[in-house]
Amino acid sequence: MDLKGKVALVTGSTSGIGLGIARELARAGSDIMLNGLGDQAAIEALRSDIADTFAVRVAFDPANLTHPADIMRLAARCEAGLGSLDILVNNAGIQHVAPIDQFPDAAWEAVIALNLSAVFYGMKAAIPGMKRRGWGRIINIASAHGLVASRDKVAYVAAKHGVIGATKVAALECANAGITVNAICPGWVLTPLVQAQIEARAKANGTTVETESTALLAEKQPMLAFTTPEKIGALAVFLCSEAASTMTGAALSIDGGWVAQ
Ligand code: NAD
Repeated sequence: MDLKGKVALVTGSTSGIGLGIARELARAGSDIMLNGLGDQAAIEALRSDIADTFAVRVAFDPANLTHPADIMRLAARCEAGLGSLDILVNNAGIQHVAPIDQFPDAAWEAVIALNLSAVFYGMKAAIPGMKRRGWGRIINIASAHGLVASRDKVAYVAAKHGVIGATKVAALECANAGITVNAICPGWVLTPLVQAQIEARAKANGTTVETESTALLAEKQPMLAFTTPEKIGALAVFLCSEAASTMTGAALSIDGGWVAQ
């Protein structure tokens, strides 16, 4: 795969799946705009490691994606600083777990703002430049929870279903502009977001992290294995390839059989 000369903006790429995607796109030759929260020194270490390992340009922008104006500025800074915005991966996301009647309003607003609204604003910011250049790849990281529900995750499930809907609309609008728009729907990926859920379960149930990891997988996935960020990254690289140039509007499961049931 040769993505040399392309510029990819990966939101929420200081950790987990986003970092895995950024690394795989860099391995394929793309320059990278990293984004996310976290310790500045640790992020700088990630940035320079990716740049040195894959010999690509890597920049970082700390835009908080819950603010629409910051997303527009992030896209503009990517185009100004790295010269383009050819590949947009809307990945940043958070989770909150509680039954609807106890779900805090602020948690609903926060999950919808980051997991759904930021995807809309990211596409809105990136599409004009992609149309001008006649080439673009938009990859929205949804979830198995974009296709099916689980209890206690109302904001997350609503947001991820919304992401798949928004992906389909963007695919239609960009169908003849050289731009494809797809959603990736992972099952369980062992990242800090999921590690926190496992640790909370172990604490609540008085069990161990190992017990809860297996239990978590067994509840949802016929295949008792976590997907890795690298595998999600490899799928993202494929979606950027010429072979995938007519794949658009798809919701691609990579979930150990979760939604096949
Ligand atoms: P993670 O917690 O490891 O990483 C989340 C990233 O988003 C981090 O870089 C964080 O700094 C960034 N972020 C958080 N709030 C932000 C904000 N306001 N502005 C900018 N960046 C912000 O999570 P992850 O597990 O890697 O999840 C990444 C995506 O994959 C999410 O959209 C999540 O819903 C989705 N997903 C995860 C799994 C899983 O099993 N881990 C499964 C399906 C889908």
